[in-house]
Amino acid sequence: MELFELGIKEAQDGLAKGEFSSRDIVESVIARYRARNGEIGAYVTFDEEGALALADANPKAVPVAVKDLINVRGQPCTCGSKILEGYVSPYDATVIRNMKAHGFIPCGRVNMDEFAMGSSTENSALGVTRNPYDLSRVPGGSSGGSAAAVGSDMCIAALGTDTGGSIRQPASFCNCVGVKPSYGRVSRYGVTAFASSLDQVGPMTKSVEDAAILLGALAGHDEMDGTTPRDPVPDYAAALEGATLKGVRLGLPKEYLEVGGLDPEVKRITDDAIAKCARAGAELVEVSLPHTEYAMAVYYIIAPAEASANLARFDGVRYGHRSAASKDVYSLYVKSRAEGFGPEVKRRIIMGTYVLSSGYYDAYYGRAQKVRTLIKRDFDDVFGRVDALLTPCAPTPAFKLGELQDPLTMYLNDLFTIPSSLAGVCAASVPAGFTAGTGLPVGVQFVCGSFEETKLLKICKAFEGVSK
Ligand code: GLN
Repeated sequence: MELFELGIKEAQDGLAKGEFSSRDIVESVIARYRARNGEIGAYVTFDEEGALALADANPKAVPVAVKDLINVRGQPCTCGSKILEGYVSPYDATVIRNMKAHGFIPCGRVNMDEFAMGSSTENSALGVTRNPYDLSRVPGGSSGGSAAAVGSDMCIAALGTDTGGSIRQPASFCNCVGVKPSYGRVSRYGVTAFASSLDQVGPMTKSVEDAAILLGALAGHDEMDGTTPRDPVPDYAAALEGATLKGVRLGLPKEYLEVGGLDPEVKRITDDAIAKCARAGAELVEVSLPHTEYAMAVYYIIAPAEASANLARFDGVRYGHRSAASKDVYSLYVKSRAEGFGPEVKRRIIMGTYVLSSGYYDAYYGRAQKVRTLIKRDFDDVFGRVDALLTPCAPTPAFKLGELQDPLTMYLNDLFTIPSSLAGVCAASVPAGFTAGTGLPVGVQFVCGSFEETKLLKICKAFEGVSK
């Protein structure tokens, strides 16, 4: 076995026993990166010297690939955008500081849809990322580089971010475990904001245990992010001991399972996952989340509204790209933004500005906030009766590069992940099987209540045990 194939737990065990050093792992990851990144394109930058120096300074640390919107001091942070060309982070995000404090080091930066807007990583200005299971297909998005790096063993584990599905959908497409923590579980300080009421950083890993270990390192209170509570972070990894599905009440939301457009292979794999859980002793409960059908519309008002405000800071003055064609301050703003942002980001800024404009605010943004509350109540109600929900993660397996041209069709990828994001609860994608014939990986989604990561990870761990 090569060191690049290791997961976090195996790497930590080997490091503790002195079987190899952090440098050995980083060297192996670099060799794998050199061999595979040319065709897959998971990484956008890889500071090999920097990673080796960090490994030498922390000989027991496990390297982790970082999505290109998380600030790491001294490294570029382009967010998949031309507008941040040349920008170098002056500080570490809290997640990076936390990781370092728990025996991890950042190692390479991975591709993403521009400012995390997309479901295929095709919206990156920095190049194409391909699915390691079929190079003619997308890795999903927006954390497509993270998923492709994990899925091709070009890293030990990766960090992704999820606003409406960007950890879970690519994890499903590339055969990884992906956890979107509850809103507030992980600090957002130093993570370039897309939609601030939704964004969360989370682990993308080769096993549920690895996800539990890495989440434990990322999570916790941060003075720099007022949404993070002070309570101590549970020991997620220790809690996995003896995880079982016996007696677990699993809710099957009818709005998710009876939806049109669900790929037949995804349906078969999800039904199979449900049957395996039942055989392992889970109690299946049909439930209803009646406001599910409005989630997509609500998300595409709230997320662009917040994005339009957050992206106002990229004005050609403070960060990155500055238009050479400007004549005065106004044309500097306009031309820098017109040249720097890609089409999907512009579309979101225009939508967001529209729904926030006076005269339309109440009709769109205000109303969307009210419906968001109803969606959240659906989840509160259902978690009074069941421990977790089990749903498909994405409606289809990985699609072909260039296959989805219409933005609305692309948005439908997040049909099953957006409601839990709006509710702020925690959710994970766990590998569940492969499509017949095409052999593409498919994950299923488990959802638990807010700050119930321990329960979520235990259920995922037990499922991983019975799904293999
Ligand atoms: N695909 C969704 C979007 O484009 C979600 C993205 C995300 O979670 N960052 O907004």
